[in-house]
Amino acid sequence: MKKLALLSILLLAACGREAAPTVASKPGGKPQVLVANYPLKYFAQRIGGSAVEVVFPAPGDEDPAFWQPDDAAITQFQNADVILMNGATYSKWAEKVTLPQSKLVDTSAAFKAQYIEIKADSTHSHGPGGEHSHSGTAFTTWIDLTQAIQQAEAVKTSLAKFAPDAEKNFAALKSDLEALDARLIAVGKRLANTPVVASHPVYHYFARRYALNLQAVLWEPETVPDDKAMEELKSILAKHSAKWMIWEGEPAKESVAKLDAIGVKSVVFDPCGNVPDAGDFLNVMKANVEAIEKAFP
Ligand SMILES: [Zn+2]
Repeated sequence: MKKLALLSILLLAACGREAAPTVASKPGGKPQVLVANYPLKYFAQRIGGSAVEVVFPAPGDEDPAFWQPDDAAITQFQNADVILMNGATYSKWAEKVTLPQSKLVDTSAAFKAQYIEIKADSTHSHGPGGEHSHSGTAFTTWIDLTQAIQQAEAVKTSLAKFAPDAEKNFAALKSDLEALDARLIAVGKRLANTPVVASHPVYHYFARRYALNLQAVLWEPETVPDDKAMEELKSILAKHSAKWMIWEGEPAKESVAKLDAIGVKSVVFDPCGNVPDAGDFLNVMKANVEAIEKAFP
C-alpha cells in the first residue's frame, strides 16, 4: 500500500505540470484554499469569508499532523489556488510530496527562529496513523495565541487579493485572540511556576508563552492509564509535585478517578487541531480558557 502510494506521488510529482489541470476552481468559481489543519481552516474562513472556498480534507478522527493524504487529496492540494500549511514540521506528509511553491504559504515562517526543539520521547500511537514520535520540532504552534495571530496574519496576506474584507476580518479575529491571550497570561502569573502535568507532549509553546511549569506523559484521553503508566506519572510527581493534569480532550471517567486517588485533578485544554464536535475554534479556545481559569483561580 505504502509503496504504491509513494510511487503515484513520484509520478504525480514528475509529470504533474503537463498532465494535471493546474486550475482547480472552475471558471467563475471561488478560489480554492487548501489547509493543513483546523485552526487554519477557521482562520481562512473568518478572514476570507464567502470570497473563498476553504477545503480541509483530513478525516475528523485523525490527528492532521500525522495524517497521510491519499492521492486524490494530494492532487487537491497541488491544484489549489492557495495552500496554507502550519509549518514547524506539522504535516509529515508534505516532506515527500511536491507542492507548487508559488501557492504554498508556511503560516508559521514569521516565528521560525522561536521554534522549540523537543529532545527525546518514545514513539507511540494514537488513532489509525500508526506509531509516531514527538521528538524534533514542536508543532502545536497556535496554542501560543500570539503565534496563532501571526499565523492568521500570514493567512490574511495570502487571501488579501481574493477577499476584499480580509484586513477587517483579520483585525476582528486578532482582537478575539488577544483577549484570550491576556487571560492566559494572567493565569500563568497566578500559577507562579506551580508544577502542572500534561497528558501529551503538545503544550510546549503554550507552556512557554504562559510561563507554565509543565511536564508531559504520553497518555490519551480515551485510554485509561494502566499500572505502568501510573508508576511513570508517580515518578514524575516525586520531583514535580503537580496537583493538576491538562488533557487534550475529555478524559475517561476512570482516568479521572485514578488521578483523583493520587491527588491530581483533571482539566481539558483542547488544542483543537481537528474540527471540534461542537462550536468552532474560538468557542473551543474560550472553553479552554474558562476551564483553566476555573482550575487556577
Ligand atoms: Zn502523540
